[in-house]
Amino acid sequence: MIKGLYQIGKIYDVKIVDSFVEEIEENKKNKKYIIEINFDTGEKKISLSSKEYSKGDEYKYNFIKMGLTGRQNQIFVVFDDVKRIYGDGKIHSIWISLKNEIEDGGLKNKISKVEEIFYENYKLKEEYKKSIENYLKESNINKKEIAFWVVKVDNEYIHNNESYLNLIEKKVLEEKFEKGKIICHLCSKKTEKFYTDFSRLKMKIYINDKVGFSQNISNNWEGNFALCENCYKILIRGQSFVLNKFSLKVGNIDYSIIPEFIKEPKLSKDNLERWSEYVKFYKNPFEFFKNEFEENIEDYIKFEDNANFVLLNYLFYEKNNQQFKVFGLIKDIPNGRIEKLREEFKKIINEFRVFFEDGSYIIKNLSDIYYLIPLRISDNKIVDIQKIMNLFFAIFNENVVDIDNLIYDFTLGFRAIYYENSAYHLSKYFKNKNDEIKYILKTHQLLKFLKGGESDMNFDILEEDYKNYIKTCSFDEKETALFLLGIVIAKIGSIQYTSYKYKPILEKVNFSGMNKEKLKNLYNEVLEKMKQLGIYGNYEVIYSLSKQLFDKNLKNWDLKSYENTYFILSGYAFETYRILKGG
Ligand SMILES: [Zn+2]
Repeated sequence: MIKGLYQIGKIYDVKIVDSFVEEIEENKKNKKYIIEINFDTGEKKISLSSKEYSKGDEYKYNFIKMGLTGRQNQIFVVFDDVKRIYGDGKIHSIWISLKNEIEDGGLKNKISKVEEIFYENYKLKEEYKKSIENYLKESNINKKEIAFWVVKVDNEYIHNNESYLNLIEKKVLEEKFEKGKIICHLCSKKTEKFYTDFSRLKMKIYINDKVGFSQNISNNWEGNFALCENCYKILIRGQSFVLNKFSLKVGNIDYSIIPEFIKEPKLSKDNLERWSEYVKFYKNPFEFFKNEFEENIEDYIKFEDNANFVLLNYLFYEKNNQQFKVFGLIKDIPNGRIEKLREEFKKIINEFRVFFEDGSYIIKNLSDIYYLIPLRISDNKIVDIQKIMNLFFAIFNENVVDIDNLIYDFTLGFRAIYYENSAYHLSKYFKNKNDEIKYILKTHQLLKFLKGGESDMNFDILEEDYKNYIKTCSFDEKETALFLLGIVIAKIGSIQYTSYKYKPILEKVNFSGMNKEKLKNLYNEVLEKMKQLGIYGNYEVIYSLSKQLFDKNLKNWDLKSYENTYFILSGYAFETYRILKGG
């Protein structure tokens, strides 16, 4: 991984200050204002102005955060937390840190004046605070809509002051270097000035490939990895590019793609960003078939040449202020695997769109799969992250997945959606009426995606649609028996629904599992209801085939109780979809 950062950093040749600029995430569409605050020391007043944020402004204004924690001096004059000028205690005020560290004497004096005039006990005086709040109110700007604040003193910006820029560079370079004769671990050149402290980098814990994955979480640094200044700068730039251009989300989980070249890439700084789009949206199984890239791939065709010489690494993490908590790492995925995954998803789409016109009923990429595994949430955070990480890992690496376990999870997922249980992440995603149906139908596709194959069973007496679906999902005889029973239950349910607005028959299906005895009872109850409601014709055929398959396999019935439930729900979902679509 460090190799990838290094390779990209070499191409992404920008100034150190620029590589600490924090880009405003594109999905944060509400961040649209830049507020400038001028401290006028002559007139002793604060004046404000605002403009709409546009892409690239963070570079114009040097919007820098750097990995500084709360206790360290925060010197940045462009920031997103207004507390920094309100001065909520010593730590938050920008002036103190700046005055102590900046070398420009003139600016130092001015800052002292600002403190004298506008502050009292490190706090912005109430009247000035009020004028800021009033300005926002009058301009109808919500604090959440502010991309960042910019400070001026006597109408002069500080963020482009040379002394200020030097100070930022000093934080990264001078404050961190060590002296002594070493050989750089990356370029193998002898150097007398080197770096082993990477705390300015957010991905510091990943810089050393020798530090095993287990240690990545603990944040412990072995300190045996030393770099010359040039290589240190290259890594900083590589990290900056990856975090700004290769970061995405799957659900609530942040991840970054870190590409690694096997062969020297034909890329220049100018087309690096376009290439990153190509990788991020086209070569990324989390984004397959989701965006216009699939159609506009010709515009990016020149990058295909390089594709075979790139390995992709996926780093999953949580951004907690400036801290980086890592959940998982998927390493060294070659282009061949990515393309095979695209083919596999394409196959699923083609096979299942025959049954479901509505595209939202079909899984197209790994992000869709993310919502099929029930994950517990607590305090808005996902608790079972490892569960989904393991599945992604298995899919990328073509490892065997425990299907039994998955089916158990599907019954759990169904219940969470059906009962609107907000303790699981997927009930927020499948929140519309009948979404539990959509959920079950999508799980069929995941099973097919993981297992492949097609069953050779051919029940001529069944309608084409059922016959083909059973084949596509490759249900075996026992599974088919219960799937067919589920179809009849769906029919009963829909008739009941028209008169009672709910489906009493569903109460006969135990969502958490049904053993063989319970299944026998269910068969009897379904038959009784059919007679009661006068359900004949096709459904009679389906029922009797179901019963026949059930009786035939009863002696060696080895499906677990939750599997029994799942396959009944499968038929229920399929038929309910047909009934709903049929009007
Ligand atoms: Zn070096």
